[in-house]
Amino acid sequence: MIRVLISGQRVDWDEYGGLLQAALTDSGIEAEVIHERMPRSPETIDYIVYAPWSDMKDFSPFTGAKAILNLWAGVESVIGNETLTAPLARMVDPGLTDGMVEWCVAHAMRHHLGIDRDVCRHDAVWDPYVPPLARERPLTILGLGILGRAVGEALSGLGFPVTGWSRSAKDVPGVTCHSGEGGLVEALRKAELLILLLPLTLATEGIMNAERLALLPKGAVLINPGRGPLIDDDALLAALDSGQIAHATLDVFREEPLPGDHPFWAHPGITVTPHIASATRPDSAVGVIVENIRRGEAGEPLLHLVDRRLGY
Ligand code: NAP
Repeated sequence: MIRVLISGQRVDWDEYGGLLQAALTDSGIEAEVIHERMPRSPETIDYIVYAPWSDMKDFSPFTGAKAILNLWAGVESVIGNETLTAPLARMVDPGLTDGMVEWCVAHAMRHHLGIDRDVCRHDAVWDPYVPPLARERPLTILGLGILGRAVGEALSGLGFPVTGWSRSAKDVPGVTCHSGEGGLVEALRKAELLILLLPLTLATEGIMNAERLALLPKGAVLINPGRGPLIDDDALLAALDSGQIAHATLDVFREEPLPGDHPFWAHPGITVTPHIASATRPDSAVGVIVENIRRGEAGEPLLHLVDRRLGY
């Protein structure tokens, strides 16, 4: 009998407890799934399913943990925890990927078609406007991982000339792929729409600084469902005020919830969404968790392991 701890808030237990117990049983894995702030005999816990908003920050009592299975795709809030020595897997969930594709397509299409012109119009002005076709609107995605790749393929399927950028060289159907610093300049120069789907690491923090924002075509639109610190906030505000950036749709922020007095809320060139671009979907995610536990028990390599040196 293995022991699986769900470490998170009450809502995580409500969403995952029963589903995970049933999925483990269906897979023939004898397990006890528990949710306690500090369980009895922590050294007997085999796997920790971890929500980054858990108040558990000390992993050292869990000396028998075979893996920490993160419930979120981003691991920046847990990866630096020095008490965490067991392997750390991040969440790759088909439901989360589908949600991100839908969110990015919706916000890209909003700006591409100029939908606000009509949706927000109440001035009885008949003002026909013919937007360009998607194939005339170059779009760039920084980050070509699980999410960036799926978003790139979807937008390419709609006709956008999609350019992508990643750390290592990639080959994604329908996407012109770049890597490295030179590739970043190339990818930014043509980005009328720019989507950030990079993880937050030492190498990506502040990547969209004043210099890089200035590389974009004038009037570009920035969409950030990645992580808030990817952007230099002051540089973004300056770029919006100068017209270099026409609009920024931001889902993630340096501080969340975004404080009520933060200038992003009131800025007419910024749309704030409350970190809802996509979420892990329990129905599909439990399958991923169970597969990793199965692998762990069978001595097979775990899926989606985080590289601590790279930070993602
Ligand atoms: P992933 O599969 O790990 O992909 C990350 C991508 O970023 C990879 O293509 C990687 O390059 C690239 N990258 C990392 N460091 C880089 C660097 N220094 N320079 C250039 N490229 C770099 O991650 P994912 O599952 O797609 O998720 C991406 C991020 O989305 C998460 O980390 C999280 O922050 C964010 N997210 C947000 C929400 C939301 O609701 N807002 C939901 C889920 C996820 P390689 O391919 O060469 O490794």
